[in-house]
Amino acid sequence: MSSRHGRREGIDYDAIPAALAASAVEPGDAEFARVRSTYLRGGSPGLILRPGTPAEVGQAVRYARTQPVKLGIRSGGHGISGRSTNNGGIVIDVSRLNAIEILDKETRRVRVGPGARWSDVAAALAPHGWALSSGDYGGVGVGGLATSGGIGWFAREHGLTIDHLRAVDLVTADGSQVHADERENAELFWGVRGAGANFGIVTSFEFEVDEVGDVGFAQFVMDASDTAGFLERWGAAMESAPRDVTASVIIGGPRPGQPLIAQILAVVDSDDADTIVSRLRPISETAPLLDYSIQVRPYESIMHVPPATHQAQGDPVTRSALADHLTPALSAAAGELIASGLTYFFQVRAVGGAVSDVAPDATAYANRSANFSLVAFGPGRRALDAAWDGLLPHFNGTYLNFETDLRPERLHEAYPGTTLTRLRELKRRYDPDNVFRDNFNIAPSG
Ligand SMILES: Cc1cc2nc3c(=O)[nH]c(=O)nc-3n(C[C@H](O)[C@H](O)[C@H](O)COP(=O)(O)OP(=O)(O)OC[C@H]3O[C@@H](n4cnc5c(N)ncnc54)[C@H](O)[C@@H]3O)c2cc1C
Repeated sequence: MSSRHGRREGIDYDAIPAALAASAVEPGDAEFARVRSTYLRGGSPGLILRPGTPAEVGQAVRYARTQPVKLGIRSGGHGISGRSTNNGGIVIDVSRLNAIEILDKETRRVRVGPGARWSDVAAALAPHGWALSSGDYGGVGVGGLATSGGIGWFAREHGLTIDHLRAVDLVTADGSQVHADERENAELFWGVRGAGANFGIVTSFEFEVDEVGDVGFAQFVMDASDTAGFLERWGAAMESAPRDVTASVIIGGPRPGQPLIAQILAVVDSDDADTIVSRLRPISETAPLLDYSIQVRPYESIMHVPPATHQAQGDPVTRSALADHLTPALSAAAGELIASGLTYFFQVRAVGGAVSDVAPDATAYANRSANFSLVAFGPGRRALDAAWDGLLPHFNGTYLNFETDLRPERLHEAYPGTTLTRLRELKRRYDPDNVFRDNFNIAPSG
Protein backbone atom coordinates (compact mmCIF):
# COMPACT_ATOMS: atom_id res chain seq x y z
CA MET A 1 0.00 0.00 0.00
CA SER A 2 1.59 3.27 -1.04
CA SER A 3 0.75 6.78 0.12
CA ARG A 4 2.24 8.11 -3.14
CA HIS A 5 3.33 11.23 -1.27
CA GLY A 6 6.96 10.19 -1.34
CA ARG A 7 7.14 9.63 -5.08
CA ARG A 8 10.28 11.05 -6.64
CA GLU A 9 10.62 13.20 -9.69
CA GLY A 10 11.91 11.58 -12.85
CA ILE A 11 10.40 8.14 -12.23
CA ASP A 12 7.39 7.15 -14.31
CA TYR A 13 5.57 5.04 -11.74
CA ASP A 14 2.68 4.31 -14.11
CA ALA A 15 5.06 2.56 -16.51
CA ILE A 16 6.32 -0.03 -14.00
CA PRO A 17 5.81 -3.42 -15.71
CA ALA A 18 2.77 -5.22 -14.34
CA ALA A 19 4.77 -8.30 -13.32
CA LEU A 20 6.96 -6.13 -11.07
CA ALA A 21 4.37 -3.78 -9.62
CA ALA A 22 3.11 -6.06 -6.84
CA SER A 23 6.53 -6.58 -5.27
CA ALA A 24 7.86 -3.05 -5.92
CA VAL A 25 8.44 -0.76 -2.95
CA GLU A 26 8.30 3.02 -3.02
CA PRO A 27 8.57 5.76 -0.37
CA GLY A 28 5.50 5.68 1.84
CA ASP A 29 5.10 1.89 1.61
CA ALA A 30 5.18 0.05 4.92
CA GLU A 31 8.16 -1.97 3.74
CA PHE A 32 10.21 1.02 2.63
CA ALA A 33 12.09 1.40 5.94
CA ARG A 34 13.33 -2.20 5.65
CA VAL A 35 14.74 -1.87 2.15
CA ARG A 36 15.83 1.75 1.69
CA SER A 37 19.32 1.37 3.19
CA THR A 38 22.03 -1.23 3.01
CA TYR A 39 24.43 -2.70 5.58
CA LEU A 40 26.82 0.26 5.41
CA ARG A 41 25.03 2.97 3.44
CA GLY A 42 21.93 5.06 4.10
CA GLY A 43 19.62 5.74 1.16
CA SER A 44 16.23 6.89 0.04
CA PRO A 45 15.50 5.48 -3.43
CA GLY A 46 12.38 6.47 -5.30
CA LEU A 47 11.64 2.87 -6.30
CA ILE A 48 12.89 -0.60 -5.40
CA LEU A 49 12.05 -3.32 -7.90
CA ARG A 50 12.25 -6.89 -6.64
CA PRO A 51 12.09 -9.26 -9.60
CA GLY A 52 11.60 -12.94 -8.79
CA THR A 53 12.76 -14.54 -12.06
CA PRO A 54 15.48 -13.83 -14.65
CA ALA A 55 12.73 -12.78 -17.08
CA GLU A 56 11.49 -10.23 -14.55
CA VAL A 57 15.05 -8.99 -14.09
CA GLY A 58 15.04 -8.39 -17.84
CA GLN A 59 11.81 -6.41 -17.58
CA ALA A 60 13.23 -4.41 -14.67
CA VAL A 61 16.34 -3.49 -16.67
CA ARG A 62 14.35 -2.53 -19.76
CA TYR A 63 12.12 -0.29 -17.62
CA ALA A 64 14.89 1.22 -15.45
CA ARG A 65 17.06 2.21 -18.40
CA THR A 66 14.31 4.49 -19.68
CA GLN A 67 14.13 6.41 -16.39
CA PRO A 68 16.47 9.41 -16.07
CA VAL A 69 17.56 8.61 -12.50
CA LYS A 70 20.35 6.66 -10.81
CA LEU A 71 20.24 2.87 -10.95
CA GLY A 72 21.63 0.63 -8.22
CA ILE A 73 21.85 -3.18 -8.30
CA ARG A 74 21.46 -5.04 -5.03
CA SER A 75 21.90 -8.68 -4.03
CA GLY A 76 22.89 -9.02 -0.36
CA GLY A 77 23.16 -5.29 0.38
CA HIS A 78 26.69 -5.47 1.81
CA GLY A 79 28.29 -3.34 -0.89
CA ILE A 80 31.14 -1.04 0.06
CA SER A 81 32.27 0.04 -3.42
CA GLY A 82 28.90 -0.76 -4.97
CA ARG A 83 26.21 1.86 -4.44
CA SER A 84 23.32 -0.56 -4.07
CA THR A 85 21.12 2.16 -2.66
CA ASN A 86 20.79 5.79 -3.73
CA ASN A 87 18.77 8.95 -3.25
CA GLY A 88 15.76 9.35 -5.52
CA GLY A 89 16.81 6.67 -7.99
CA ILE A 90 15.84 3.07 -8.77
CA VAL A 91 17.23 -0.07 -7.15
CA ILE A 92 16.87 -3.49 -8.76
CA ASP A 93 17.04 -5.87 -5.81
CA VAL A 94 17.56 -9.53 -6.77
CA SER A 95 17.49 -10.90 -3.22
CA ARG A 96 14.52 -13.13 -4.14
CA LEU A 97 16.77 -15.04 -6.55
CA ASN A 98 18.39 -16.94 -3.70
CA ALA A 99 18.09 -20.63 -4.62
CA ILE A 100 21.00 -23.00 -3.98
CA GLU A 101 20.94 -26.22 -6.03
CA ILE A 102 23.30 -29.16 -6.18
CA LEU A 103 23.81 -29.84 -9.90
CA ASP A 104 26.26 -32.75 -9.85
CA LYS A 105 27.64 -34.57 -6.81
CA GLU A 106 30.48 -36.18 -8.76
CA THR A 107 31.99 -32.88 -9.95
CA ARG A 108 30.76 -30.84 -6.94
CA ARG A 109 28.86 -28.41 -9.18
CA VAL A 110 26.36 -26.11 -7.51
CA ARG A 111 24.15 -23.33 -8.83
CA VAL A 112 23.60 -20.33 -6.57
CA GLY A 113 21.33 -17.34 -6.97
CA PRO A 114 22.81 -13.86 -6.41
CA GLY A 115 20.44 -13.14 -3.53
CA ALA A 116 21.71 -16.01 -1.36
CA ARG A 117 24.00 -14.99 1.47
CA TRP A 118 27.30 -16.76 2.04
CA SER A 119 26.02 -18.17 5.35
CA ASP A 120 23.20 -19.85 3.37
CA VAL A 121 25.71 -21.26 0.88
CA ALA A 122 27.94 -22.63 3.66
CA ALA A 123 24.91 -24.24 5.35
CA ALA A 124 23.68 -25.82 2.09
CA LEU A 125 27.10 -27.28 1.22
CA ALA A 126 28.02 -28.56 4.71
CA PRO A 127 25.90 -31.78 4.60
CA HIS A 128 27.89 -32.84 1.51
CA GLY A 129 31.26 -32.19 3.17
CA TRP A 130 31.83 -29.23 0.82
CA ALA A 131 32.55 -25.53 1.13
CA LEU A 132 33.21 -22.57 -1.12
CA SER A 133 35.66 -19.93 0.01
CA SER A 134 33.83 -16.59 -0.07
CA GLY A 135 34.68 -13.99 2.55
CA ASP A 136 34.98 -13.70 6.29
CA TYR A 137 31.37 -12.67 6.96
CA GLY A 138 28.35 -14.84 6.25
CA GLY A 139 25.90 -11.95 5.92
CA VAL A 140 27.50 -10.80 2.65
CA GLY A 141 25.52 -11.54 -0.51
CA VAL A 142 26.63 -13.78 -3.37
CA GLY A 143 25.95 -11.27 -6.18
CA GLY A 144 28.37 -8.50 -5.23
CA LEU A 145 31.19 -10.72 -4.01
CA ALA A 146 31.14 -13.35 -6.77
CA THR A 147 31.28 -10.73 -9.53
CA SER A 148 34.39 -9.08 -8.19
CA GLY A 149 36.73 -11.46 -6.33
CA GLY A 150 36.02 -13.13 -3.03
CA ILE A 151 38.89 -13.20 -0.55
CA GLY A 152 37.79 -15.84 1.92
CA TRP A 153 38.93 -18.28 4.60
CA PHE A 154 40.38 -20.76 2.10
CA ALA A 155 41.93 -18.18 -0.22
CA ARG A 156 45.51 -19.42 0.15
CA GLU A 157 44.49 -23.06 -0.28
CA HIS A 158 41.71 -22.86 -2.87
CA GLY A 159 41.88 -19.37 -4.44
CA LEU A 160 39.26 -16.67 -4.87
CA THR A 161 35.53 -17.29 -5.15
CA ILE A 162 35.66 -16.26 -8.83
CA ASP A 163 38.30 -18.95 -9.43
CA HIS A 164 35.58 -21.53 -8.70
CA LEU A 165 33.11 -20.02 -11.14
CA ARG A 166 32.34 -22.25 -14.13
CA ALA A 167 29.39 -20.41 -15.70
CA VAL A 168 27.03 -17.49 -15.17
CA ASP A 169 23.64 -16.44 -16.45
CA LEU A 170 23.12 -12.72 -16.59
CA VAL A 171 20.74 -10.09 -17.84
CA THR A 172 22.56 -7.54 -19.94
CA ALA A 173 21.82 -3.86 -20.53
CA ASP A 174 19.21 -4.46 -23.24
CA GLY A 175 17.32 -6.79 -20.91
CA SER A 176 18.30 -10.03 -22.66
CA GLN A 177 19.36 -13.19 -20.86
CA VAL A 178 22.89 -14.33 -21.68
CA HIS A 179 24.87 -17.41 -20.66
CA ALA A 180 28.64 -17.15 -20.32
CA ASP A 181 31.30 -19.78 -19.66
CA GLU A 182 34.75 -20.73 -21.00
CA ARG A 183 33.25 -21.71 -24.39
CA GLU A 184 30.19 -19.52 -24.82
CA ASN A 185 30.69 -15.75 -24.56
CA ALA A 186 34.12 -16.50 -23.13
CA GLU A 187 35.31 -12.88 -23.12
CA LEU A 188 32.24 -11.83 -21.13
CA PHE A 189 32.90 -14.70 -18.72
CA TRP A 190 36.45 -13.38 -18.32
CA GLY A 191 35.14 -9.86 -17.51
CA VAL A 192 32.43 -11.02 -15.11
CA ARG A 193 35.15 -12.58 -12.94
CA GLY A 194 36.44 -9.33 -11.45
CA ALA A 195 34.34 -6.58 -13.02
CA GLY A 196 30.93 -8.23 -13.33
CA ALA A 197 28.91 -5.27 -12.04
CA ASN A 198 29.73 -3.36 -15.23
CA PHE A 199 28.18 -5.88 -17.63
CA GLY A 200 24.81 -6.91 -16.28
CA ILE A 201 22.89 -8.47 -13.44
CA VAL A 202 23.99 -12.02 -12.77
CA THR A 203 20.94 -14.17 -12.11
CA SER A 204 22.78 -17.42 -11.36
CA PHE A 205 26.32 -18.58 -10.70
CA GLU A 206 27.59 -22.12 -11.31
CA PHE A 207 30.49 -23.02 -9.02
CA GLU A 208 32.78 -26.01 -8.55
CA VAL A 209 33.17 -26.25 -4.78
CA ASP A 210 35.79 -27.92 -2.57
CA GLU A 211 35.77 -30.80 -0.14
CA VAL A 212 36.13 -29.35 3.34
CA GLY A 213 35.59 -31.03 6.72
CA ASP A 214 35.75 -29.45 10.16
CA VAL A 215 38.38 -26.74 10.44
CA GLY A 216 40.50 -25.08 13.11
CA PHE A 217 39.22 -21.59 13.93
CA ALA A 218 41.43 -19.36 16.06
CA GLN A 219 41.07 -15.92 17.56
CA PHE A 220 44.14 -14.26 19.09
CA VAL A 221 44.16 -10.97 20.93
CA MET A 222 47.61 -9.37 20.69
CA ASP A 223 49.36 -6.36 22.13
CA ALA A 224 50.18 -4.49 18.92
CA SER A 225 51.91 -1.51 20.57
CA ASP A 226 54.91 -2.24 18.33
CA THR A 227 52.54 -2.01 15.38
CA ALA A 228 55.15 -1.91 12.61
CA GLY A 229 57.15 -4.81 14.03
CA PHE A 230 53.99 -6.85 14.57
CA LEU A 231 52.67 -6.33 11.02
CA GLU A 232 56.05 -7.19 9.53
CA ARG A 233 56.39 -10.36 11.62
CA TRP A 234 52.76 -11.39 10.98
CA GLY A 235 53.25 -10.86 7.24
CA ALA A 236 56.40 -12.99 7.22
CA ALA A 237 54.65 -15.73 9.23
CA MET A 238 51.76 -15.79 6.76
CA GLU A 239 53.99 -15.91 3.71
CA SER A 240 55.90 -18.90 5.05
CA ALA A 241 52.80 -20.71 6.35
CA PRO A 242 51.48 -23.79 4.52
CA ARG A 243 48.51 -22.99 2.29
CA ASP A 244 45.96 -24.66 4.55
CA VAL A 245 46.09 -21.62 6.84
CA THR A 246 44.51 -18.27 5.96
CA ALA A 247 44.31 -15.42 8.46
CA SER A 248 43.48 -11.77 8.89
CA VAL A 249 44.44 -9.02 11.33
CA ILE A 250 42.11 -6.28 12.57
CA ILE A 251 43.42 -3.25 14.45
CA GLY A 252 41.10 -0.60 15.85
CA GLY A 253 42.02 2.98 16.65
CA PRO A 254 44.36 3.92 19.52
CA ARG A 255 42.75 4.43 22.94
CA PRO A 256 44.35 6.73 25.50
CA GLY A 257 46.24 4.92 28.25
CA GLN A 258 45.74 1.48 26.73
CA PRO A 259 47.96 -0.72 24.58
CA LEU A 260 46.97 -0.98 20.94
CA ILE A 261 45.04 -4.19 20.48
CA ALA A 262 45.06 -6.39 17.39
CA GLN A 263 42.76 -9.31 16.73
CA ILE A 264 43.99 -12.15 14.54
CA LEU A 265 41.39 -14.50 13.07
CA ALA A 266 42.69 -17.65 11.41
CA VAL A 267 41.26 -20.75 9.76
CA VAL A 268 43.29 -23.93 9.38
CA ASP A 269 41.79 -26.44 6.97
CA SER A 270 42.37 -29.45 9.21
CA ASP A 271 40.56 -31.14 12.08
CA ASP A 272 43.77 -32.54 13.54
CA ALA A 273 44.73 -30.72 16.76
CA ASP A 274 48.50 -31.14 16.30
CA THR A 275 48.38 -29.79 12.74
CA ILE A 276 46.23 -26.85 13.82
CA VAL A 277 48.52 -25.92 16.72
CA SER A 278 51.67 -26.24 14.62
CA ARG A 279 50.19 -23.98 11.92
CA LEU A 280 49.07 -21.38 14.45
CA ARG A 281 52.14 -21.22 16.69
CA PRO A 282 54.28 -18.97 14.42
CA ILE A 283 51.30 -16.62 13.97
CA SER A 284 50.68 -16.43 17.73
CA GLU A 285 54.33 -15.53 18.35
CA THR A 286 54.24 -12.32 16.27
CA ALA A 287 53.36 -10.09 19.28
CA PRO A 288 52.66 -10.48 23.02
CA LEU A 289 49.59 -12.73 23.29
CA LEU A 290 46.86 -11.39 25.61
CA ASP A 291 44.10 -13.92 25.01
CA TYR A 292 43.19 -16.66 22.58
CA SER A 293 40.74 -19.37 21.67
CA ILE A 294 41.17 -22.27 19.26
CA GLN A 295 38.26 -24.48 18.28
CA VAL A 296 37.65 -27.32 15.87
CA ARG A 297 34.28 -26.60 14.29
CA PRO A 298 32.31 -26.83 11.05
CA TYR A 299 33.10 -24.10 8.55
CA GLU A 300 29.38 -23.32 8.29
CA SER A 301 29.32 -22.37 11.99
CA ILE A 302 32.02 -19.74 11.37
CA MET A 303 29.92 -18.29 8.56
CA HIS A 304 26.59 -18.48 10.40
CA VAL A 305 24.88 -15.07 10.74
CA PRO A 306 21.15 -14.63 11.38
CA PRO A 307 19.30 -12.57 8.74
CA ALA A 308 19.05 -8.89 9.63
CA THR A 309 17.42 -5.71 8.39
CA HIS A 310 19.86 -3.08 7.17
CA GLN A 311 19.48 0.40 8.61
CA ALA A 312 22.79 2.14 7.96
CA GLN A 313 23.06 5.88 7.65
CA GLY A 314 25.62 7.96 5.79
CA ASP A 315 28.31 6.68 3.46
CA PRO A 316 31.31 4.51 4.40
CA VAL A 317 34.75 6.07 3.95
CA THR A 318 37.34 3.45 3.07
CA ARG A 319 40.57 2.88 1.20
CA SER A 320 41.81 -0.44 -0.08
CA ALA A 321 44.99 -1.87 -1.57
CA LEU A 322 46.84 -5.05 -2.40
CA ALA A 323 50.48 -5.54 -1.42
CA ASP A 324 52.95 -8.25 -2.34
CA HIS A 325 54.69 -8.11 1.05
CA LEU A 326 54.31 -6.35 4.40
CA THR A 327 57.75 -4.81 4.03
CA PRO A 328 59.40 -2.90 6.89
CA ALA A 329 58.57 0.37 5.08
CA LEU A 330 54.88 -0.52 4.51
CA SER A 331 54.52 -1.85 8.06
CA ALA A 332 56.03 1.35 9.49
CA ALA A 333 53.78 3.55 7.33
CA ALA A 334 50.70 1.51 8.34
CA GLY A 335 51.75 1.81 11.99
CA GLU A 336 51.88 5.61 11.64
CA LEU A 337 48.47 5.68 9.96
CA ILE A 338 46.92 3.64 12.77
CA ALA A 339 48.59 5.77 15.48
CA SER A 340 47.28 8.93 13.81
CA GLY A 341 43.67 7.92 14.55
CA LEU A 342 42.66 8.53 10.92
CA THR A 343 41.42 4.96 10.70
CA TYR A 344 39.20 3.31 13.29
CA PHE A 345 39.27 -0.10 11.56
CA PHE A 346 42.35 -1.38 9.75
CA GLN A 347 42.35 -4.90 8.36
CA VAL A 348 44.86 -7.01 6.49
CA ARG A 349 43.72 -10.27 4.92
CA ALA A 350 46.13 -12.94 3.69
CA VAL A 351 45.86 -13.75 0.00
CA GLY A 352 48.63 -15.32 -2.14
CA GLY A 353 48.96 -19.11 -2.36
CA ALA A 354 46.38 -20.55 -4.78
CA VAL A 355 45.22 -17.03 -5.70
CA SER A 356 48.66 -16.42 -7.18
CA ASP A 357 48.60 -19.69 -9.17
CA VAL A 358 46.06 -18.16 -11.56
CA ALA A 359 47.52 -16.20 -14.48
CA PRO A 360 46.95 -12.40 -14.29
CA ASP A 361 45.10 -12.43 -17.61
CA ALA A 362 42.90 -15.46 -16.87
CA THR A 363 40.24 -13.29 -15.18
CA ALA A 364 39.62 -9.55 -14.81
CA TYR A 365 41.05 -9.80 -11.27
CA ALA A 366 44.62 -9.29 -12.44
CA ASN A 367 46.67 -8.43 -9.34
CA ARG A 368 47.58 -12.03 -8.65
CA SER A 369 50.99 -11.56 -7.05
CA ALA A 370 49.65 -9.92 -3.88
CA ASN A 371 50.01 -11.78 -0.60
CA PHE A 372 47.90 -9.25 1.28
CA SER A 373 44.67 -7.26 0.92
CA LEU A 374 44.46 -4.13 3.09
CA VAL A 375 41.51 -1.95 3.99
CA ALA A 376 41.12 1.09 6.24
CA PHE A 377 37.82 2.64 7.34
CA GLY A 378 38.07 6.26 8.44
CA PRO A 379 35.85 8.98 9.85
CA GLY A 380 36.76 11.52 7.15
CA ARG A 381 37.24 11.27 3.38
CA ARG A 382 39.82 13.99 2.90
CA ALA A 383 42.05 13.06 5.82
CA LEU A 384 42.01 9.32 5.02
CA ASP A 385 42.67 9.94 1.32
CA ALA A 386 45.63 12.20 2.10
CA ALA A 387 47.17 9.66 4.46
CA TRP A 388 46.48 6.63 2.26
CA ASP A 389 47.79 8.31 -0.87
CA GLY A 390 51.12 8.56 0.94
CA LEU A 391 51.17 4.76 1.20
CA LEU A 392 50.57 4.15 -2.52
CA PRO A 393 54.24 3.45 -3.40
CA HIS A 394 54.08 0.38 -1.15
CA PHE A 395 51.11 -1.17 -2.94
CA ASN A 396 50.58 -3.36 -5.95
CA GLY A 397 47.11 -2.57 -7.17
CA THR A 398 43.84 -2.67 -5.35
CA TYR A 399 40.79 -4.85 -4.70
CA LEU A 400 37.81 -2.66 -5.48
CA ASN A 401 35.35 -4.46 -3.20
CA PHE A 402 36.73 -2.58 -0.19
CA GLU A 403 37.29 0.78 -1.95
CA THR A 404 35.12 3.89 -1.87
CA ASP A 405 37.49 6.50 -3.37
CA LEU A 406 36.05 7.36 -6.78
CA ARG A 407 39.11 9.02 -8.34
CA PRO A 408 39.95 7.40 -11.71
CA GLU A 409 43.36 6.11 -10.59
CA ARG A 410 41.60 3.37 -8.65
CA LEU A 411 40.29 1.74 -11.85
CA HIS A 412 43.82 1.61 -13.26
CA GLU A 413 45.14 0.09 -10.04
CA ALA A 414 42.43 -2.59 -10.01
CA TYR A 415 42.64 -3.34 -13.73
CA PRO A 416 46.28 -2.78 -14.70
CA GLY A 417 47.66 -2.58 -18.24
CA THR A 418 45.61 -4.30 -20.91
CA THR A 419 43.00 -5.51 -18.41
CA LEU A 420 41.23 -2.14 -18.44
CA THR A 421 41.47 -1.88 -22.25
CA ARG A 422 39.90 -5.32 -22.60
CA LEU A 423 37.16 -4.44 -20.12
CA ARG A 424 36.36 -1.22 -21.95
CA GLU A 425 36.00 -3.15 -25.21
CA LEU A 426 33.57 -5.49 -23.48
CA LYS A 427 31.66 -2.57 -22.00
CA ARG A 428 31.24 -1.03 -25.45
CA ARG A 429 29.87 -4.36 -26.67
CA TYR A 430 27.52 -5.26 -23.84
CA ASP A 431 26.59 -1.91 -22.27
CA PRO A 432 27.28 0.88 -24.78
CA ASP A 433 24.79 3.22 -23.04
CA ASN A 434 26.43 2.70 -19.65
CA VAL A 435 23.33 1.44 -17.86
CA PHE A 436 25.37 -0.38 -15.18
CA ARG A 437 27.49 2.22 -13.47
CA ASP A 438 26.87 1.96 -9.72
CA ASN A 439 30.17 0.26 -8.94
CA PHE A 440 33.53 1.50 -10.25
CA ASN A 441 32.18 2.33 -13.62
CA ILE A 442 34.20 1.44 -16.70
CA ALA A 443 32.73 4.06 -19.01
CA PRO A 444 32.43 2.83 -22.62
CA SER A 445 33.99 6.03 -23.89
CA GLY A 446 36.94 5.91 -21.52
C1 LIG B 1 30.97 -6.87 6.79
C2 LIG B 1 31.60 -7.10 5.44
C3 LIG B 1 32.58 -8.08 5.31
C4 LIG B 1 33.18 -8.31 4.07
N1 LIG B 1 34.14 -9.29 3.97
C5 LIG B 1 34.67 -9.58 2.77
C6 LIG B 1 35.65 -10.60 2.63
O1 LIG B 1 36.07 -11.22 3.61
N2 LIG B 1 36.14 -10.86 1.40
C7 LIG B 1 35.71 -10.18 0.30
O2 LIG B 1 36.18 -10.48 -0.79
N3 LIG B 1 34.80 -9.21 0.39
C8 LIG B 1 34.29 -8.89 1.60
N4 LIG B 1 33.40 -7.85 1.71
C9 LIG B 1 33.09 -7.04 0.52
C10 LIG B 1 31.95 -7.66 -0.25
O3 LIG B 1 32.41 -8.73 -1.03
C11 LIG B 1 31.34 -6.61 -1.20
O4 LIG B 1 30.92 -5.52 -0.44
C12 LIG B 1 30.20 -7.18 -2.04
O5 LIG B 1 29.90 -6.26 -3.07
C13 LIG B 1 28.94 -7.43 -1.24
O6 LIG B 1 28.02 -8.13 -2.02
P1 LIG B 1 26.45 -7.95 -1.78
O7 LIG B 1 25.74 -8.72 -2.82
O8 LIG B 1 26.12 -8.23 -0.36
O9 LIG B 1 26.33 -6.38 -2.00
P2 LIG B 1 25.25 -5.42 -2.68
O10 LIG B 1 25.31 -4.20 -1.85
O11 LIG B 1 23.97 -6.09 -2.87
O12 LIG B 1 25.91 -5.14 -4.09
C14 LIG B 1 27.11 -4.41 -4.18
C15 LIG B 1 27.38 -4.13 -5.65
O13 LIG B 1 27.69 -5.34 -6.33
C16 LIG B 1 27.13 -5.31 -7.64
N5 LIG B 1 26.17 -6.41 -7.74
C17 LIG B 1 25.35 -6.86 -6.77
N6 LIG B 1 24.63 -7.89 -7.19
C18 LIG B 1 24.99 -8.09 -8.49
C19 LIG B 1 24.58 -9.04 -9.47
N7 LIG B 1 23.65 -9.96 -9.22
N8 LIG B 1 25.16 -8.97 -10.69
C20 LIG B 1 26.10 -8.03 -10.97
N9 LIG B 1 26.53 -7.12 -10.07
C21 LIG B 1 25.97 -7.16 -8.84
C22 LIG B 1 26.46 -3.96 -7.80
O14 LIG B 1 27.39 -3.08 -8.41
C23 LIG B 1 26.21 -3.52 -6.39
O15 LIG B 1 26.20 -2.14 -6.20
C24 LIG B 1 32.80 -7.57 2.94
C25 LIG B 1 31.80 -6.56 3.07
C26 LIG B 1 31.23 -6.33 4.31
C27 LIG B 1 30.19 -5.25 4.44
